[in-house]
Amino acid sequence: MKYKRILLKLSGEALSGNKGYGIDPKILMQYSGEIKRVMDAGTQVAIVIGGGNIFRGTDAAAAGIDRVQGDYMGMLATVINAMALQGALEKVGLFTRLMSGIKMEQVCEPFIRRRAVRHLEKGRVVIFGAGIGNPYFTTDSTASLRAIEIEADVVLKGTRVDGVYTADPEKDPTATRYTRISFEEVYQMGLNVMDMTAFTLCKENNLPIIVFDMNKAGNLYRLIQGDDDIGTLIS
Ligand code: UDP
Repeated sequence: MKYKRILLKLSGEALSGNKGYGIDPKILMQYSGEIKRVMDAGTQVAIVIGGGNIFRGTDAAAAGIDRVQGDYMGMLATVINAMALQGALEKVGLFTRLMSGIKMEQVCEPFIRRRAVRHLEKGRVVIFGAGIGNPYFTTDSTASLRAIEIEADVVLKGTRVDGVYTADPEKDPTATRYTRISFEEVYQMGLNVMDMTAFTLCKENNLPIIVFDMNKAGNLYRLIQGDDDIGTLIS
């Protein structure tokens, strides 16, 4: 196995499937199956999940809500997604722990770095909910930060697109996928991989990112086996 400990970032939107809103149980089960396969192969898996399928802080103004208030709503949305994913992972027979960036002791554990690492070592899937616990951040930044804290080998950003392209492949049919690209090139070309805070954290800590299509069966497994033709590796 190429990667022993991974941080998998899933967007909230991905969980909604084709509905664009809410949670599609079929997607939950599909992702859980993919995650089980890599857990069974012995890889330690930590997950950060977004909340965009329910609420984003940036939607707050349009809804007449204060931004900070909206960000906390977004963070709580990630906990709803995390709980849904936790349930699905347990259904396929995995042991899990949900750790939150905001204390909510009836629901889950608070994030404690050493404890998170211990859970991983014991073969539990660790889900980080509620982002970092602070407004004005994203779950991409949470993924970068937590990955650094738990010393993950790589951040795997599962998206709908199978990597980073020269242009938006949904708009430009001539766009081609990079299989490998440096942090510097991403900066120079202004490519959109993650928000700048998240991206800079990875760059400054030499933490590689792989953007890949999480919806294609077997992709996650092949990635951790070291198949370098999947997605785009940024390092
Ligand atoms: N959020 C935040 N601090 C964090 C993580 C998330 O304030 O550390 C809020 C922010 O409003 C964000 C929302 O939670 O818009 C949902 O997360 P995100 O937009 O990253 O979800 P995704 O796009 O991955 O579904």
